[in-house]
Amino acid sequence: MAKKYEGRAVGIDLGTTYSCIAVWLDQQNRAEIIHNEQGNRTTPSFVAFTNDQRLIGDAAKNQAATNPENTVFDAKRLIGRKFSDSNVQNDKILWPFKVISGVNDKPMISVKYKGQEKLLCAEEISSMILTKMREIAEAFLEFPVKNAVITVPAYFNDSQRKATMDAGAIAGLNVMRIINEPTAAAIAYGLDERTKRVGERNVFIFDLGGGTFDVSLLTINDKVFQVKATGGNTHLGGEDFDHRMVNYFAQVFKKKNKVDITGNSRALRRLRTACERAKRTLSFAVVTTIEVDSLYEGIDLFSSITRAKFEEINMDLFNQCLKTVESCLIDAKMDKRYIHDVVLVGGSSRIPKVQQLLQDFFAGKDLCKVINPDEAVAYGAAVQAALLSEGFKNVPNLVLQDVVPLSLGIENEGDIMDVVISRNTNIPVKKTKVYSTVFDNQLSASIVVYEGERARASDNNLLGSFNLSGLPCAPRGHPLEVCFAIDENGILIVSAYEKSTGSKNQITKTNEKGRLPSNEIKVMISEAENYRTADENFLKKANAMNALDYCVYKMKKALEKNDMKLKLSSQENEKINSAMTKATYLLDNDKQSEIGVLENHLNELESLLQLVIGKSV
Ligand code: ADP
Ligand code: MG
Repeated sequence: MAKKYEGRAVGIDLGTTYSCIAVWLDQQNRAEIIHNEQGNRTTPSFVAFTNDQRLIGDAAKNQAATNPENTVFDAKRLIGRKFSDSNVQNDKILWPFKVISGVNDKPMISVKYKGQEKLLCAEEISSMILTKMREIAEAFLEFPVKNAVITVPAYFNDSQRKATMDAGAIAGLNVMRIINEPTAAAIAYGLDERTKRVGERNVFIFDLGGGTFDVSLLTINDKVFQVKATGGNTHLGGEDFDHRMVNYFAQVFKKKNKVDITGNSRALRRLRTACERAKRTLSFAVVTTIEVDSLYEGIDLFSSITRAKFEEINMDLFNQCLKTVESCLIDAKMDKRYIHDVVLVGGSSRIPKVQQLLQDFFAGKDLCKVINPDEAVAYGAAVQAALLSEGFKNVPNLVLQDVVPLSLGIENEGDIMDVVISRNTNIPVKKTKVYSTVFDNQLSASIVVYEGERARASDNNLLGSFNLSGLPCAPRGHPLEVCFAIDENGILIVSAYEKSTGSKNQITKTNEKGRLPSNEIKVMISEAENYRTADENFLKKANAMNALDYCVYKMKKALEKNDMKLKLSSQENEKINSAMTKATYLLDNDKQSEIGVLENHLNELESLLQLVIGKSV
């Protein structure tokens, strides 16, 4: 039986482009998607920095075009990756914000905040989004939220999962469990009254989001959710379709006006926003117009695009999706005829061409659209969170059996990948394999751990390495035990053991590749606290400014009344005059004005206002 956590826990879908949060409601027997302060049920995964504040979510996305260099998004495409990773190198070209290489090849995002350069890692940006999501939940629930289940693409590797847990820790959250997005969506689907059926069903989850594409094949039998196989692409989604459209219109613009906008981040950002909107429209209209005033050098963009053109420029990407679907079925050794339901998840699954290709692939089968594609993942995560916590009632007692997305193994002599746990093995799992020394009197052995499907170890993703020393003098062929253990989060611990001497070693946090050391996480937690205080102060100051501004207005109105000035003594008039002058000064010089000074002056002006009002009656 898994450990139960105290208190209310939430489920968070930390998306590449949008995030969503949900909580189980006992009385209603269902999870509730919590809307943000703008009334939206999903929140853009955007963080922006300006001269005087930090913005997260809608507020950050809304100002992206005017502040492109300091508006960060897509942190999920960076998390757990190295700067030299070819994906990062390709993405970097498209991002308006700067990414540089930090210590140990870690990608660092460079932004300007309050006039100073700040370097942030992807975990920190993600932690800011998590903090925002948590605040959204706290505003709704009216009590503090500490525990959360966070979802990741099924195809996320070990480093990406660990980095996501680190992001949770920096946000001050206790990450109870990391679960796979398609599995979470399957929970939402499986629990939906409208889809409840008896007997075992093979369900195919197709999740095409903003940045990632995920598929999973599960069998659902009453309350048991068993993942058979997963697949996907951590780098395929709506943003790629937007990008194709941006390129298309940049060319149209160039042809017509003989100017190239591709080097101008502000123009690109504005065009991207317009393209994303047009793309959404094309999911229900067959043609749409695109208008961007003064896109570049004062020239407007006014053009149109048909659904057919949109499909043409993205067709190879759509076909890639189908290849992934096919290989997932092969992995699960299941013919597509045996799939009972195909469930659409993720915003981009609304694209008609994608739906048509998928439907054709499954021989005309109806696609399941009953669950909300934007919310299913958070819903499922909230159910899992409730299951792991104490204090929730009426939670469906389901059992989740997930799998390892990538094979895990160690490097053998000759750069050979020796698989210890093969992909799609059920988790949690523990496997021990016996290896032997390769030289006579070998005193230590190096264990190098990789994940991936390639035969050559170095073609796979290096997870880390360690040495097992203190081996006894013995001829070559002396046995060593290597144990791979994967927990419920899909996170791996590798240990090695030599029986006769009892020598033991394992990959620990500090020498794992890519993982943030715990002292660094501590520093980041305190920095996160600084950001929060700065945000609060900013808000407090903005409120004080507003209140003062309003008080000045009320005072002006009050003084405009008949003979008001005559009713006041000359001393009083003088006092009011000087207080009003000071207020105007404070409001005009808002940068220098301190909160305390503003608040004191507000009090003073308020009491003068009361005096004026008192004399007016
Ligand atoms: P993620 O989980 O990767 O953040 P989501 O599942 O929230 O992504 O999907 C966001 C993506 O879906 C965005 O690229 C958005 O443009 C796209 N999208 C949303 N609605 C539509 C629509 N009606 N037609 C096409 N694409 C859409
Ligand atoms: Mg998603």
